[in-house]
Amino acid sequence: MGTEHDTAPATDIRTAFRTCPLCEAGCGLELTISNGAVTRIRGDRDDVFSKGFLCPKGSTLKQLHDDPDRVRRPLVKRNGVHEEVSWDEAWQVVAERLPAIIDQHGREAVAVYLGNPSAHSLSAMLYNRSMLQALGTKRRFSASTVDQMPRQVAAGYVFGTPVTVPVPDLDRTEYLVVLGANPYASNGSLCTAPDFPGRLEAMQARGGTLVVADPRRSRTAEQADLWLPIRPGTDGLFLAAMVTAGR
Ligand code: SF4
Repeated sequence: MGTEHDTAPATDIRTAFRTCPLCEAGCGLELTISNGAVTRIRGDRDDVFSKGFLCPKGSTLKQLHDDPDRVRRPLVKRNGVHEEVSWDEAWQVVAERLPAIIDQHGREAVAVYLGNPSAHSLSAMLYNRSMLQALGTKRRFSASTVDQMPRQVAAGYVFGTPVTVPVPDLDRTEYLVVLGANPYASNGSLCTAPDFPGRLEAMQARGGTLVVADPRRSRTAEQADLWLPIRPGTDGLFLAAMVTAGR
């Protein structure tokens, strides 16, 4: 005769809607959760912005979450080895060593790296700023430092702040020139455009033109109406020629 323990636990399946935290495209996620564990991730087809699109990073968030190598607890480096410690112990180390380092070597002796997805987490964005101001160091690094800082520096000079970055209004664009980018692979970093490739194809379908200047025949170049395979290192000459031709 069956007992309470023999009975298979009732399956609790629910759907949750979230926003992918991995880049500024902010794609809508539809999560299937069975007994507290995510069992499926797909694009939220009713999301007014991403309309069901997900790139491979978004669809594999579960693998990232479950990765046994993911850092889940604070680490303190002792004798060259990172050791897991409790949060209390980690804060104790910070309280003991951070002021001492600043006193002895100055604020520029401290560097901060803000990784992803903290760069797209509202709570982290709110408190990171206070922490960075309190630290007073200019040595701030992030994924942006690797892939988009020239554009942000230019925006700072032109518009007064590095976070005012102009992006193309793809859904209303009729002629797009892509210089040294491959949005079919990157989804158009910094453009805040879920399904960038789909938006390009929609532009072409309504009669628009895609021009790609790139020495390499990238996936985006293959899709272009006009591919300009300029020689590496000649971007400046190419742009100067455009300015001269337009005068
Ligand atoms: S493009 Fe990819 S990484 Fe960026 S928000 Fe969408 S699914 Fe996430």
